[in-house]
Amino acid sequence: MGSRSPDRIPRLSLWQKTPRGFIRMAACLACGHMAPLPVRDLVRRHGDMCPVEMALLHLRCENCRQSKAEARLIPLCEPGCRKW
Ligand SMILES: [Zn+2]
Repeated sequence: MGSRSPDRIPRLSLWQKTPRGFIRMAACLACGHMAPLPVRDLVRRHGDMCPVEMALLHLRCENCRQSKAEARLIPLCEPGCRKW
């Protein structure tokens, strides 16, 4: 309580801060391809008050060209992690 929030819709301004040790990725719902979220590009294009759901609609998968993606917050691997 105390601080009033205009609404509860997550906006691009939220993505500009990423918790330490995490990375924001966009995951394609069609093929599972993942790429780092181009937060700066999205903010430049839509403004930081744009709802993240709307911004996601404008992303297109590099692999299958679908535009259905979801944002994920993924913990960064330790140096030498083999997943990458
Ligand atoms: Zn895809």
